[in-house]
Amino acid sequence: MKEFDYIIIGGGCAGLSLAYELEINEKLKDKTLAIIEPRDEYKRDKTWSFWKVANHNFDDCVKKNWENFTVNIKKNTNHLQCTSYPYQSVDSGLFYEKINNKLKGNKNISFFKNINEINSKNSFVFNSVPSIKKDHRNLWQYFCGVEIETQKSFFDDKIFNLMDFDCEQRESVHFFYTLPYSETSALIETTWLSRMNDGSKKDYDSQIKDYIETNLKLKNYKITYKEEGAIPLFYPTYEIEKNKINIGTAGGMTRLSTGYTFLNIQEHSKFICNNIENILNTKKFEISKKYQFLDDVFLRVLEKHPDKMPDIFFKMFKCSPKTVIKFLSNKSNFFEDLSIIFKMPKITFIKALFY
Ligand SMILES: Cc1cc2nc3c(=O)[nH]c(=O)nc-3n(C[C@H](O)[C@H](O)[C@H](O)COP(=O)(O)OP(=O)(O)OC[C@H]3O[C@@H](n4cnc5c(N)ncnc54)[C@H](O)[C@@H]3O)c2cc1C
Repeated sequence: MKEFDYIIIGGGCAGLSLAYELEINEKLKDKTLAIIEPRDEYKRDKTWSFWKVANHNFDDCVKKNWENFTVNIKKNTNHLQCTSYPYQSVDSGLFYEKINNKLKGNKNISFFKNINEINSKNSFVFNSVPSIKKDHRNLWQYFCGVEIETQKSFFDDKIFNLMDFDCEQRESVHFFYTLPYSETSALIETTWLSRMNDGSKKDYDSQIKDYIETNLKLKNYKITYKEEGAIPLFYPTYEIEKNKINIGTAGGMTRLSTGYTFLNIQEHSKFICNNIENILNTKKFEISKKYQFLDDVFLRVLEKHPDKMPDIFFKMFKCSPKTVIKFLSNKSNFFEDLSIIFKMPKITFIKALFY
C-alpha cells in the first residue's frame, strides 16, 4: 500500500483549508499528501459567516459583505456598524470548487475514501473528524436555515440581523438570524443553544415559516436552499499522539460562546503551514486560555439562566461594536475584555464561577 508524508483525514473546511494553504505556499512540491474524504461529490452544504478580523484566502468565495447589523430583543433594537471588520458570508460550494481545482494540479496530492486504502504508519496525520461521545450534559448550537427568494423587493441588503430574540424561548436560548443577500433573497436561520436531549425544538420548518410570515410579515416567497447543523459548544476529547494534530472542530477551533470556527480554522492552517518543517516540535495552536475561561463562565450562566440571555447578549452589544466584535473573534485586549465584562450582570457571573 502507498505511503504519504502527510495525511489529512476529512476533506471538509479544515482539511481543505490546510491542503490549500500548504499548496499555495509550495510545501507540497517535494512532499506527498493523501486526503481521506468519504463524500462522493462536493456541493454547497454550509454558509460560513464571520467578522473579517484577519485575512484569509477566500475573499473570492464571499457571497456578501455587510457593514451594518442589528441585534434585537422584544420591543428594542440596537443598530450597529462594523465598518472596520465587515461581516462576510462564504459560500461553501465556491470554496470547495476553488480548492479542489487548485489541488488537482499537483500530482503529489491524492484523494481516498477510506484510510485503510493507504499505509498510514509513517505519515504525519492532520485529523478533522471529531470523536464526540454522546453526553446528555453537553451544550450544542443547533440550527436550521433556509434561503428564500421573493418576487418583489423586500429586504434591506445593507444590514443583517445577527440575533433576533423576539421569538419563543421554550426555557432555552433561541434566536433568529437573517442575512439578506439582495433585496429579494435572504438566509433565515433558527438557532437554539441547548442540550436538545429530546429533539423537542427541532420543529424547524414551522418555526421558520412562522417567523417569516408573522415576524417579517412576508407571505410570498419560495425556499431555494436549506442547511441544518449542530456545532458542539464543548471541546472534543482526544488522546495526544506524537504524529497527529487535530484540526477544525476536532482541533478545538470553535469559539464556544459563539460557534464561530471558520476564521480560527484559517489561522490554524497558516500556523501549521508556517511550522510544517518542524511540526513535531511545534507547540499546540489553540484559542487562548483567556477566552476558554471566559466562555466557560458564560456558558455556565447560559445553562443556569437561559431566560436572562436575550438581555445579556443585548447588553453586550451596548459596548462599542468594534470592541464586541474583537472580543467575539478572539482579538480583544485586556481593556476591551474589561469593558465587556462590566456590561455583564456581575452577581450572576460571579456566582457562575462556583457552580
Ligand atoms: C451547517 C453549518 C453551518 C456553519 N456555519 C458557520 C458559520 O457561519 N461560521 C463559522 O465560523 N462556523 C460555522 N460552522 C461551524 C464550522 O465552521 C463548520 O462546522 C466547519 O465546517 C468545520 O470544519 P471541519 O473541517 O472541522 O468539519 P467539516 O467541514 O464537517 O469537515 C469534516 C469532513 O470529514 C469528513 N468525514 C466524516 N467522517 C469521516 C471519516 N470517518 N473519515 C474521513 N473523513 C470523514 C466529512 O465528510 C467532512 O467533509 C457551521 C457548521 C455547520 C454544520
